[in-house]
Amino acid sequence: MKAQIITIGDELLIGQTVDTNSAWMGSELSSLGFDVCRRISIHDLRLDILDVLAEVSGKSDVVLITGGLGPTSDDITKQTLCEFFKTKLVTDHEVLDMIEEMYKQRNWPMNENNRRQAEVPEACRVLKNRAGTAPGIWFEKDKTIFVSMPGVPHEMKHIMNEHILPELKKRFSSQAIIHKNIMTYGIGEASLAEILTGFEETLPKELKLAYLPASGIIKLRLTATGQDKRYLNTIMTEQIKKLYTTIPELIFAEDEESFEMVIGNLLKENGKTISTAESCTGGRIASMLTSIPGSSQYFKGSVIAYDNSIKTDVLGVSQEILEKFGAVSRETVEKMAEGARSLLKTDYAVATSGIAGPDGGNELKPVGTVCIAVSSPSGTISEKRRFGNERIANINRFSIAALHLVWRQITCQ
Ligand code: AMP
Ligand code: MG
Repeated sequence: MKAQIITIGDELLIGQTVDTNSAWMGSELSSLGFDVCRRISIHDLRLDILDVLAEVSGKSDVVLITGGLGPTSDDITKQTLCEFFKTKLVTDHEVLDMIEEMYKQRNWPMNENNRRQAEVPEACRVLKNRAGTAPGIWFEKDKTIFVSMPGVPHEMKHIMNEHILPELKKRFSSQAIIHKNIMTYGIGEASLAEILTGFEETLPKELKLAYLPASGIIKLRLTATGQDKRYLNTIMTEQIKKLYTTIPELIFAEDEESFEMVIGNLLKENGKTISTAESCTGGRIASMLTSIPGSSQYFKGSVIAYDNSIKTDVLGVSQEILEKFGAVSRETVEKMAEGARSLLKTDYAVATSGIAGPDGGNELKPVGTVCIAVSSPSGTISEKRRFGNERIANINRFSIAALHLVWRQITCQ
């Protein structure tokens, strides 16, 4: 079961619009068991569209197309589809009635361009679009289904959910596909792949493993494809168990769960609270923790201790420690965490101090250095880490590293 995606629009090629349609359609097709083997973006140009249609015809079961169905002269997908499928445009009166009704309800004036939206290729199946004016267009040729949809994301999603996905599910139900994600942290991609060599070599043939790294977190995606969904579920469960025994200290969550979600759940379950004392992360950790609904149950507050005077005056870090070890030191962050924990009366407090860059580094403490501490009922732990040179990426990585230390302290990993 192969599928291809074609997105049409000059704006996609010059980076003005990010092609989110392909990502969404790819994910939906893949969860139906399709192998999405190619995504192509092209100009609103007749010859380019004709070339691509000829190229994909007969080579996959489904081709989803978006873009170029608007009412203006730059949108030429519909006319070009007519040329390719050797048919002509005719007015669909049901679509015209729908458009007229929509304009009447909203008190908008209709013009010739709007009426043209009701013109569809004579030989196609029309897919009604209740989220906009341009209907979806369905053709079949050389054992390939072609569906063309408007580029506006919510209209495309409406037509996909209403018409296309249910029909594809009915017609291509033989293949089952299951995805499972295991979230890991604490090791680079290359080292993780080395540890998992044996695991990969003994994976059943129905299973595939992918490494998806982002900000130090590596998502391990296992995909199982085959005919028998029960069997796929069984081997998936077995292999996940095996992963847990191979890299127990690296796995912190499954599927799309983040550190802030996992920590939030652990704190809620145990009736514990947390606060932050942030220098270089400037409140980013607090922002991540409070992005989780219900975080008011366990998140109390934060001290953004950017300037040394806040570290001393508010958090109680002594001048002596600051002078002896510096603001970016394990000793300072330990005191910052302890200070926040006592000031904000929480069970846990996490503190950061580091050099996000691009300036401010030196030989001993280069840009990308961060010290992190977590103070908890069982004591205070800290670590010094080193990341890269890019400020925003560093702030993000420092924050994730800090949440990782919190998670380790709560779970005693
Ligand atoms: P169109 O159907 O070509 O008139 O597209 C209408 C609007 O939808 C465009 O102006 C874009 O803002 C948006 N759009 C088109 N294609 C895509 C795409 N592949 N991903 C996200 N947005 C899109
Ligand atoms: Mg367009």
